[in-house]
Amino acid sequence: MNVREEILNLKRELNAAILAHNYQPYEVQEIADFVGDSLELSLLSTKLDAEVIVFAGVRFMAEQTKALNPNKKVLMPIPSALCSLASLVTVEMIKEYREKYPGAPLVVYVNSPIEVKAEADYIVTSANATKLISKLNSDTILFSPDANLAHYVAKVTGKKVIAIPPTGHCYVHLLITPYDILEAKRKYPDAIALVHPEVPPEAQELADYIAGTSGMIKFVSRSDHKKFLIGTETGMLNRLRREFPDKEFYPIVPNADCIGMKKITLESIYYSLKNLVYEVVIKEEYMHKVRRALDRSFEILGV
Ligand code: SF4
Repeated sequence: MNVREEILNLKRELNAAILAHNYQPYEVQEIADFVGDSLELSLLSTKLDAEVIVFAGVRFMAEQTKALNPNKKVLMPIPSALCSLASLVTVEMIKEYREKYPGAPLVVYVNSPIEVKAEADYIVTSANATKLISKLNSDTILFSPDANLAHYVAKVTGKKVIAIPPTGHCYVHLLITPYDILEAKRKYPDAIALVHPEVPPEAQELADYIAGTSGMIKFVSRSDHKKFLIGTETGMLNRLRREFPDKEFYPIVPNADCIGMKKITLESIYYSLKNLVYEVVIKEEYMHKVRRALDRSFEILGV
């Protein structure tokens, strides 16, 4: 039996489901029950009757899934699969800014550790950050941890969006520079350039459309165009190519790879299911607070 078949057998035996983020390698996306963005997958997991969930992604995603599924076993195939952006913010930083800007709502991006999410008034994705912030009754917003996304939200909403920390960034998206976009456009002049709002502001300026991963999928599904330049982590091209085989996708930066995301392999998923490791455990207190912040956010967003 090969590793693929072993995984499928274990999945049946254990009543398990595999969730894979859009940035996962092709073979991992292929064996997953569902592929999507982090919040989409965490929410979907609450509707599954699976007893075990294997999250093929980085730690904050698995933690968030556990917060929404206190009674399910949530496993991370590789416990050291981390998001470097999420590692840039601490509760101490958040408290410092809260003191400095009393009354300003704190909006936390999903790419953050569970203890920081527990401090949040609202929790957003790149897909809904502008919508939620535009509806808040405050012109000054505290936003953590991505400063490029904060810049984008400020530009769209016209509000003062204070990034915590001021230089919060994802090293993968920082690789996507204006030069790379111009080069890609020169090479494929009839392609539409889609970039993630975590890319630097100067690169955002050159994009035809700015969206997170789920927004990119929606855009492509509605577009008549055949060719697209993709400015985000390269795993996204796996998802787009699988979903839209009649369209062409080119990475703006071919080596924009996230080390944490790329740690997950079929072998590690097999090991995880076989040994029921590595289980995600989070404090009860965090689970309640995160669920409250998410509910508050969904209420404002009307979902
Ligand atoms: S691509 Fe960047 S933001 Fe996404 S998980 Fe990797 S380090 Fe974090």
